[in-house]
Amino acid sequence: MPHELPKLPYAPDALEPHIDKMTMEIHHGKHHNAYVTNLNKALESAADWQGKSLEDLCRNIATVPEGIRTAVRNNGGGHWNHSLFWTLMGHGKGGEPTGKIAEVIKSTFTDFANFRSKFGEAAMSRFGSGWAWLAKTKDGRFEIVSTPNQDNPLMDGRDAVLGLDVWEHAYYLKYQNRRADYVAAWWNLLNWDEINKRV
Ligand code: MN
Repeated sequence: MPHELPKLPYAPDALEPHIDKMTMEIHHGKHHNAYVTNLNKALESAADWQGKSLEDLCRNIATVPEGIRTAVRNNGGGHWNHSLFWTLMGHGKGGEPTGKIAEVIKSTFTDFANFRSKFGEAAMSRFGSGWAWLAKTKDGRFEIVSTPNQDNPLMDGRDAVLGLDVWEHAYYLKYQNRRADYVAAWWNLLNWDEINKRV
């Protein structure tokens, strides 16, 4: 099995009260695990692609064999996105951005309040399931974008600095239909040191 479920970098209750323990257990142990299982299953018929890194699969999604492309897009994207998502959060984090990301926010979005507002709009306007991102273009510009399903910025030639899962499975147990409350709470969890590794 070429791809494996990574361990959560903290206990499943570490993000309480903003993201509850049961949501984390199901999100990581069931949803993320299923993306890994289904990615491995899809790759069974494509020996040439089994040794590729997860990042390479995402970046080269257009050349993955057609018969498994959608499965790799959905499950490889799901695996990559969640593997990133867990690392961006932590217990006792949040607060004002620091380091390089603070500079990017200031130069591109004026200030943190405006950045949060624009990022929140991307998260709220994604109809159905998907993600909001701070993406970095090839020429070094930073953009807020959203993607459907498990697509990510790597699939259209960008890098991902920050990503927020807005699938209902990410918040429904605690927040039900109140996606805005989940998005607002998420800022209390951001691990800026980890995010700075991606700027
Ligand atoms: Mn998810």
